[in-house]
Amino acid sequence: MDDHKSWQGIGVSTGKAVGRVWRLIPTLFAEAKQTKKDAVDIAREMEHLAVAAELTRRDIARSQEQLRTDKGDEYADIFAAHALILDDPSFLPEAEKVIQNGVIAVDAVSQVGEEAAALLEEIEDEYFRERAADVRAVMGQIIRHLLGAGKPFDEAFPVEGSYIVAADEMTPAETIALPKQRVLGFLVRKGGKTSHAAILARTYGIPAVLGLAISWEEMETLQYVRLDGDTGIVDVLDETQYLAGSKQQSTIEQFDEAEVSPLLQSMTLAANIGSPSELPIAKKFFAQGVGLYRTEFLFMGDSLPSEDDQTEAYRSVIATCAPHTTVIRTLDIGGDKQAPALNLPKEQNPFLGVRALRLCFARPDIFHTQLRAIWRASCAGPTAVMFPMVTTIEELCQAKAALEAARQAVIADGYSVGDIAVGMMIEVPSAALIAKHLAKEVDFFSIGTNDLTQYTLAVDRENSSLNQLNQPYHPAVLQLIVTISQAAHAAGIWTGICGEAGGDPILTPFFAALGIDELSMAPGQLPKVRKKLTSLHFDPGEKEELVSSILDCATQDEVRALLSRYGD
Ligand code: PEP
Ligand code: MG
Repeated sequence: MDDHKSWQGIGVSTGKAVGRVWRLIPTLFAEAKQTKKDAVDIAREMEHLAVAAELTRRDIARSQEQLRTDKGDEYADIFAAHALILDDPSFLPEAEKVIQNGVIAVDAVSQVGEEAAALLEEIEDEYFRERAADVRAVMGQIIRHLLGAGKPFDEAFPVEGSYIVAADEMTPAETIALPKQRVLGFLVRKGGKTSHAAILARTYGIPAVLGLAISWEEMETLQYVRLDGDTGIVDVLDETQYLAGSKQQSTIEQFDEAEVSPLLQSMTLAANIGSPSELPIAKKFFAQGVGLYRTEFLFMGDSLPSEDDQTEAYRSVIATCAPHTTVIRTLDIGGDKQAPALNLPKEQNPFLGVRALRLCFARPDIFHTQLRAIWRASCAGPTAVMFPMVTTIEELCQAKAALEAARQAVIADGYSVGDIAVGMMIEVPSAALIAKHLAKEVDFFSIGTNDLTQYTLAVDRENSSLNQLNQPYHPAVLQLIVTISQAAHAAGIWTGICGEAGGDPILTPFFAALGIDELSMAPGQLPKVRKKLTSLHFDPGEKEELVSSILDCATQDEVRALLSRYGD
């Protein structure tokens, strides 16, 4: 193999890592052939399957418990999905039928599991394709037990040293069970930005590259690598290069309060969270509040959360963040985020359909309940609310009216309420272009660069083959951000960035030059952005010059070249 070989994957969790490779043995036994033998002892195979299933059930419960202890109930839901797969009538009972036809248990499980996973993969939706990974995770664990190799993967991890974990596909159980303080990075052949491994890597601040187009055989030859979780580039190293590089390796930088710089003081660095259980991680990285609380994760279970459930969740986040502010985003269901309990009709273009605020207007009962819960929780500390996917002023006014109606209803019911700052997300180009009018109606803007990029560049944010195009560095996206920020300044309201670009240190100098007031990001990104801000210095007039140079750029490459002057 060429010593200088590089591969391009998808960088899904920021940071660089240099290290020895430890391979996670694939859970997928695709090569297991269906065998029909006269000599199969059907009763014995049935018994083996029952034992392996029971051991897998215990594994799932153990992982679930560990995750609950580490991070709280919401995360443990990942394993609830595994338990459901194990109990699904189309899984083990089907495998039993295959065994009855004279097939050994390993092959029966492999056949039924693969068929189910393949069906999910056929669905044109990344969410379902990633659920195929869950089916394979459960199937792999049963097979491990059937083969007598059901040793948990965390026990297989070397007892000493730090490693880059290379895998065909990472299951949530595997990601959680590994000793993350000794995991330098993740290198995974399958998956993209929204896979569980990517979300967990970002949450823990571990650099990760997924979607790497190499064969498992090639992966098996890797000894040492350098990976860049921002660019997605993976370099194969020899031992000498590794020894030289590992001296400079950095994983998570710690925050030294002594290093606080004026630029750092002028910006709030907040965390994006999806549930109260992520707050300890946000605190660990010194988040100054929550700039985006994605409440829709509460709505993704089998039933809708009650007003009391919601009040409790919001209250716990607000109280934990105080004296910092919690920005609660109202429901953003639709697009890629589905809520089975709502049983919504399938749309042809869900990202352009009845999503977010549009859905809330179609289901005022759900919206009203959520707004009531937010008001009831607002006494616990500084609270702000923001509406997603605003496209017109009329929508914004309708949402504000609903918020006021909920306030009055809650007060009439005898609850006390706090003060709530009212803001909106800007993630649709139309809203960016009329920002000066919208600014008169709100206390703040929060720019959702994920959707703003998607809608400006007409690029599906879920489609990993369009990753090169799906970048916030496109000058058109940055021009819209300048328009929004200038409108906010003129109206005297504050502006934040809460899309993934907020946690991208390449863009930090641009946001600082523009006078963006808050950057909110996945907690694992906070140290990088903080470090960038600490080292950043602008000469007089340099901020204005940088913004006008960005406005003059014609391409992403020109933008990147300009920003590279401020270091990586
Ligand atoms: C965004 O679009 O940038 C955003 C923060 O919202 P979400 O990623 O939840 O759509
Ligand atoms: Mg969005």
